[in-house]
Amino acid sequence: MSSLVKFIRETYQTNEFIPLHAPTFAGNEQAYVAETITSTFVSSVGKFVTDFEQKIEAFTQSPKAIATSSGSSALHTALYMAGVQSGDLVITQSLTFVATCNALYHMGAAPIFVDISTVSLGLSPQAVQTYLEEYGLLNEEGLCIHKETKQTIKAVMPMHTFGHPVELDELVLICQQWNLVLIEDAAESLGSRYKEKHTGTIGEFAALSFNGNKIITTGGGGVLLTNNQANGIRAKHITTTAKVPHPYEFYHDEAGFNYRMPNLNAALGCAQMESLPLFIEQKRALAMHYNSFFDGGELLFVQEPSYAKSNYWLNAVICPNLHSRDKLLKLTNDSGVMTRPVWQLMHRLPMFKDALRGSLQHSEWFEERLVNLPSSPINTRI
Ligand SMILES: *Cc1c(COP(=O)(O)O)cnc(C)c1O
Repeated sequence: MSSLVKFIRETYQTNEFIPLHAPTFAGNEQAYVAETITSTFVSSVGKFVTDFEQKIEAFTQSPKAIATSSGSSALHTALYMAGVQSGDLVITQSLTFVATCNALYHMGAAPIFVDISTVSLGLSPQAVQTYLEEYGLLNEEGLCIHKETKQTIKAVMPMHTFGHPVELDELVLICQQWNLVLIEDAAESLGSRYKEKHTGTIGEFAALSFNGNKIITTGGGGVLLTNNQANGIRAKHITTTAKVPHPYEFYHDEAGFNYRMPNLNAALGCAQMESLPLFIEQKRALAMHYNSFFDGGELLFVQEPSYAKSNYWLNAVICPNLHSRDKLLKLTNDSGVMTRPVWQLMHRLPMFKDALRGSLQHSEWFEERLVNLPSSPINTRI
């Protein structure tokens, strides 16, 4: 384990503190941000927002990208657009960042936690199907009803853990069979492909995040992706206060949100998008470097699923047990090398402790063993 600290220090070529994930600003970031200040267009009006949306559309091949103030607000909008209502249920994973579940909570909906796949570390299609066969019932209107609580199960929301794509084809089929909306929490997976497609373009809606620790950052921000033009237009409308365009009148035709991304942030995002292909290359090279270090050792390096090409947003290892996980966390953090355990499972948090759930055997197994390693892109050859 102490050889790991040495290896990471050599990889990053520094004796200073090594963070888990730091942003890299090596391109036009200063110039574009300065341009918004010089022009005074730092807020809700300006060309960078549309530019940024178009860059995301071109990169992901999504028909419509709507820039938002955060990944969380993109998730909230996705659920709103999917028609999730107060009292509804949404199937998701317990092993995720809290934002996935907060978005449901603020719609008045509740999660059903089902297990993760050992292949992707994201929502397991088999576990979803098993849960639905036991508790789901399609009523005369075609709605999926929970047999015991009589609530409507409206959507399935997988999250691509650490950037590794979940088994989407299987989830699409399950959603068709049970009349559920597929919403991808793709916050961590910009640059990751499921087969040939970019993550976030398979579900009806998806959210990306550009928080400071993600593969690219806008300071804070997100994008809602949708595979349908009409939904895209409506999503833009409701995230910008539902104002009906007029030269001077204020008329809003429904209760909207102020979830737009400011031009200042979009400027940073435009510059970051220019570096994204390089970041992906550097992060994949780093992952391969870690992979060869861990080869044959007692710590198992988490690899992308065979059907996917991951952005390797956060590198992770699986420790043999909880005790060795804690030892690794202490040793690395005491040595100025930042590592983190995976998030505490959502069903352990006070606001979700009474949520419905299937077996969470794999989620609990990984919770005790996963450790994330420093993952900032490195711009020298390794
Ligand atoms: C980062 C992240 C989000 C969104 O976070 P914001 O900080 O609101 O942009 C959502 N879900 C997951 C899984 C994340 O990692």
